[in-house]
Parts: sequence; C-alpha cells; structure tokens
Amino acid sequence: MINGCRLKADDFEVVKVIGRGAFGEVQLVRHRNSRKVFAMKLLSKYEMIKRSDSAFFWEEREIMANANSEWIVQLHYSFQDPRYLYMVMDYMPGGDLVNLMSNYDVPEKWAKFYCAEVVLALDAIHSMGFVHRDVKPDNMLLDAAGHLKLADFGTCMRMDKDGMVRSDTAVGTPDYISPEVLKSQGGDGYYGRECDWWSVGVFLYEMLVGDTPFYADSLVGTYGKIMDHKNSLDFPQDLEISSEAKSLICAFLTDRVERLGQHGVDEIKSHRFFKNETWSWSTIRTTNPPVVPDLTSDVDTSNFDEIEKDESPPETFAVPKAFAGNHLPFIGFTYNRDNILFGNTPASTPVSTSINLFKKKTTK
Ligand code: ADP
Ligand code: MG
Repeated sequence: MINGCRLKADDFEVVKVIGRGAFGEVQLVRHRNSRKVFAMKLLSKYEMIKRSDSAFFWEEREIMANANSEWIVQLHYSFQDPRYLYMVMDYMPGGDLVNLMSNYDVPEKWAKFYCAEVVLALDAIHSMGFVHRDVKPDNMLLDAAGHLKLADFGTCMRMDKDGMVRSDTAVGTPDYISPEVLKSQGGDGYYGRECDWWSVGVFLYEMLVGDTPFYADSLVGTYGKIMDHKNSLDFPQDLEISSEAKSLICAFLTDRVERLGQHGVDEIKSHRFFKNETWSWSTIRTTNPPVVPDLTSDVDTSNFDEIEKDESPPETFAVPKAFAGNHLPFIGFTYNRDNILFGNTPASTPVSTSINLFKKKTTK
C-alpha cells in the first residue's frame, strides 16, 4: 500500500459543520490538494463501542459505496484514525427536508413530488436487499438541482430470503417508527420493508399538516398513540387536505398486514394521490423540482442551520499500551471508490482484512 495515498482527516479543510448525528458531526470539507468539496461524516469509535447495538456502519458503508443510484448519496472514501471513522460523500447543498418544511408551507403538489421521490428512493434500497428503518425528513437530502437523495444508512438491515429482518432493538425515531418495529423492542421482532412505508405515511402527513400525526409531549405519549393508531390518527378540521392525500396517509398508517406496499411498490405507485399532469414515475427525476436551491458557490451552506460547536471534551479510549483490541472491530473500513483525489496515482485498494468482531446484527 502506498502510504501517501492513504487519506487522513488532515487532507481536508473543514469549511463548516453542517450536521450533528448520533455518533459525531457532519462537516462540509474541501480536499486540500484537489480543491474538491465533500460532506464528511465522523463516527466516534468510542460512542459506537459504547452503544454497539445501534451501530450499523458496515451496512452504511456498503450501501453508500456500492449503490450506483441517483436516489442514494454516494460515498467516495472512508478512512479512520484512532478516534473516528470518516465517510467522505457527495455534499447535498439543498439541505434536508426538515429545513424545507421549516421554510415553506408545503402545498399538495410539492408533497406529491417529494413523497414520490422518497418512494422511488426506498424502492432502490429495498431492491438492494435492505430495509432502511429510519425514514424521516432529516435523512432526505436535496441535491443542487433540488432532487431528493436518501442519506444515513446507519440503521439499514439486510433482509433474509423471505424479505424479513429480525431485530430486538427498536431503531428509528419515535415519531416516524411503525408499530411493528416499536413492538420488536425487547421481544422477537420479525418484520419487513413495509415498516419504511409507514414512515412515508408519517412524512406525508407532516408535510401537509405541519406536525407529525402521533406527536405527544413525551416519548411514552407518542408510543401510546402509535400503538393505538386506529383511534389516534386524525386530521385537523381547519385544514383542507384532499381525499386522495388522506386516503394514501391512511393506507400507510395502518397495521402491516393491511398496509399499502405489502404487495409490492406498484400498488403504491398506482395510488390516485400521485395522479398528475407534470411527471410520471419514469420522468420525475428529470422534471423541475418544486424548489431549486439558489446557490452562490460550491460551499454555499444557506440551506443548513447554524450548528453550535460541541465544546465538551471528546471521550476517547484510554491510551492503548501494546495492543489496541478496541480498534479490531473497525478493520477493513477503509475504502476508496475512485482515484479522483490522487491524480494519476493509483488509489489504494481497500484493506482486505475484514475481521469483524463487532456484534453485528444479521438476519438468520
Ligand atoms: P445520523 O446517522 O447521526 O443521523 P446523518 O447521516 O443523518 O447522521 O447526518 C446528520 C445530518 O447531517 C443530516 O440530517 C443532514 O442534515 C446532514 N448531512 C448528512 N449527510 C449530508 C450530505 N451528504 N450532504 C449534506 N448534508 C448532509
Ligand atoms: Mg440521520
């Protein structure tokens, strides 16, 4: 391995912190030599070891590195140092859908567009054999043209031959989580891709109503409402929402055996909510998006909120003596998609060793 080719954090200049995630921050960075701009996600090894149940970074790396899909944010490089894993990916300057919803009252025409693009993006993930399990507006990003890409595959799980995953930890975000995933907590959860369609229902409701459907002051309150969705789901009287939109929301926010999408993505695509004169399922990615980001440079961050600096001292492992067993789980993480940063020098190949001592959840 040519050591000079090995990427390190110092090869990148941090332009700005643009996001904070569960295991570290996301930075807008510029590669010093090539001047290329990327988003770089940091994952704290210490935090991941401490909460190993929720760290699915192998899936995340695999999906972002191997997917060749316009619906999925592309990973270009990953590398590591004693404290962090680093993932260098395309920067999505349009911001996330949380930001979009906070800037606009989303009309139905727009909701139709974003909902449809999410459906296609999820279908791409499902077709790769994964259930996403954390579908929410924070994980939907907009590219420079205003089209949607999914990010954050840290909760993805590979489906078994029956299209199911088994997990006893409820992952996901309270407001968007489906009843079957919620029920899997502590028990024997066995569910399929339809949990993602539930979350799309929550997202569509949120775009049109302004709040999530099972909002409550407390986590327990939200959980209670989700489990009692048959009674708790309702639409505010004072808002005009089309019957098509309500019908699709209700078709998603129902028990998994009845949920739309159960028999494939086509039954979702043919729902009457998506009927329109402007795009079709095969042309939507090339139509004009509702909002086209107004960008002034390659490091324009106007679609990202100020993130306050995390001043707390970083928690790290004790200084290793001779053998750092704590780092074994991360062997093989390093990856180079292409050699665009290295001129004509061949990029280093991924480290072939991939011993994985990490308690990795796989389906049986
Ligand atoms: P976590 O797994 O901790 O939720 P995410 O991957 O979702 O972390 O990243 C956190 C936030 O950072 C996202 O909600 C988004 O606002 C921002 N972000 C992540 N990836 C990118 C990217 N490629 N381009 C622009 N912003 C990004
Ligand atoms: Mg996220």
